[in-house]
Amino acid sequence: MLSVSEAQSIVLADVVPGSEEPVSLDRALGKTLRQEIVSPSEIPRFHKALMDGFAIRAADFSSGIAEFRVLEMVVAGAPSNCDVNEGECVQIMTGAPLPSGADVVIPVEQSVLSDDRSSVRLSGGPAPSGTNVMPRGTLMRSGETLLEPGCEIRPQEIALLAECGYAEVRVSAAPMVAILATGDELVSAGERPRPGQIVNTNAPMLSAQVARSGGVPHSLGIARDQRDHLTDLVRAGLEHDFLILSGGVSAGERDLVPSVLTECGVTKKFHKINMKPGKPLWYGIRTSHSGKNTYVFGTPGNPVSGMVCFELFIRPALRRFLGLKPDRIPTISVPLSQPHVARGGRPTYHPARLLWEEKGASVEPVPWKGSSDLRATTLANCLICFPAGDRTFEFGQCVEVLPWNGTCFETA
Ligand code: AMP
Ligand code: MG
Repeated sequence: MLSVSEAQSIVLADVVPGSEEPVSLDRALGKTLRQEIVSPSEIPRFHKALMDGFAIRAADFSSGIAEFRVLEMVVAGAPSNCDVNEGECVQIMTGAPLPSGADVVIPVEQSVLSDDRSSVRLSGGPAPSGTNVMPRGTLMRSGETLLEPGCEIRPQEIALLAECGYAEVRVSAAPMVAILATGDELVSAGERPRPGQIVNTNAPMLSAQVARSGGVPHSLGIARDQRDHLTDLVRAGLEHDFLILSGGVSAGERDLVPSVLTECGVTKKFHKINMKPGKPLWYGIRTSHSGKNTYVFGTPGNPVSGMVCFELFIRPALRRFLGLKPDRIPTISVPLSQPHVARGGRPTYHPARLLWEEKGASVEPVPWKGSSDLRATTLANCLICFPAGDRTFEFGQCVEVLPWNGTCFETA
C-alpha cells in the first residue's frame, strides 16, 4: 500500500497551477500573489526626520554653536526649499524630508525657542552626522525584489503593495470545487433522520474546508447509491477544477464510486493508502477534450477520515493549484504534554491540541473514539502523526504534528 508521502507526491506531480486574475488591493486579502513585486523607488524616498525637532549641520553643533537661526518650519508632506548653512536650522516634524545642508535632527526636548521663534538654543550636543535621520533607500532599494510569487497576501503585504504604488495585483483565481456526498442513508442537515438514516455532515464540512483553503465550494447534493444517479452527478462535478466525493469508496457492494468514476473517464492514480483514518481514499484525474484537468478525490464516508484526507491530500492540491508556497504544510516536532499509548498497524493521525504556554509549546492527544468521532475534532486544532506499531510515548517525548486549517509555521 502507498505511504502518505508517496500518495502526496503523486497528487502534487499532477496538479498544475490554475489561472491568474487582477484584483484591487481591497479585495486581495488572503489571495495568492502571482507576480514578483520589486521596489519602484528608494524607500524612504528622501532623507527622513525620525524626531520632532531642529535640522542642523552636525559640524556646527560639534564646533560649539548653540544658538541657531530658524529659517522655517516644515511639516510632514511639505518639503523645505531652504538650504541650511552654518548657524542655521529648520524646525522639522517626524517623517518630514530633511532640508539640504542639514544632516542631523536635534529633538525638540533639547531646545528652547526664542519668544519670536526666530532663533533656538540647542543643548545636549554634539550629535554625530545622521542622528535621528533615516537616509533615503534605507528600507528598500529601487529594483529590489520585495515579494515573490506564491506568497499569501496578508495585511502586511497589502501595506507593502500600497507603499510600492500598486492599486491592483495579479493573484490566483479561486479553484471551483464540486462536492458530492454519496449514500442511501443520508439526509440533509435540518431534516429529521428516520430509523437507519444519518445526517450528511461531510458535504458541509468539506465545503467549509474548501472555502478556508481559498476555493469556491459548490455542493451537488446527495447522490444515492445507484449507478445512474451517481453518474449524472459525477458528470456535473467534472465540469469543475476539483471534484470531492464522500463515501462509497470502500469494498462494499454499494460502493460504486470507483467504478462510476472510471466509467466517466477519470483515470485512477491510486486507491487506498497506508494510514488511519482515511485508508480507502481514491484519487484520479480527468482531462477534458479541451485539455482542462479535473482532480478527483473519493474520500471515505466516515467524517474524521474525510477531514484527515482533506488535510493531507486535498489541501496541498489546492495550494499547488493556487500557486501557494509551500504546497505541503510542514509538520513540526512538539513534546507531548502527557504519556500516550499508540496502537495499530498503520501510521495514525490522531486529533490533538497544540498548546502555547509560558514554558513553550506542547501537544495533547484528545480522547478519540475513531473515524466517526466528529466531536473529538472540535476539541482538536492539529493532528499527531503516530508511526505504525504499538508504542508508548513518554511525557515530553517529541511527536510529529500537522497543524490544521492551513496554519503554516516557518521551518528552517
Ligand atoms: P461509506 O464509505 O460510504 O461506506 O461510509 C462509511 C461510513 O460513513 C458509513 O457509516 C456512512 O454512513 C458514513 N457516511 C457516509 N457518508 C457520510 C456523510 N456524507 N456524512 C456523514 N457520514 C457519512
Ligand atoms: Mg456509502
